[in-house]
Amino acid sequence: MRLRWADDAEHTLGSVALRRHCRCGDCRAAALHDRAVAVPSDVRLVDAQPIGAYAVQLLFSDGHDRGIYPWPYLRELAEKDAAERAIDGG
Ligand SMILES: [Zn+2]
Repeated sequence: MRLRWADDAEHTLGSVALRRHCRCGDCRAAALHDRAVAVPSDVRLVDAQPIGAYAVQLLFSDGHDRGIYPWPYLRELAEKDAAERAIDGG
């Protein structure tokens, strides 16, 4: 998923990373109990529905559609992801 922000910054976020960072009740409960969320490595983003002006709801190819991602949260994920890639890739 490509994200373009109001300040013209651009980020790309992979479907697996997005799915893994889902904050719906189910995924958060799993994380609390230290269970890794089972994310298929080939999971794809199927659809994205804006929720008002503050968030977007993502539908994944594994049928998971409960994740609501506030824009500031997405930006946080994207910047973390970009920083990690910068370290990996040099
Ligand atoms: Zn979830």
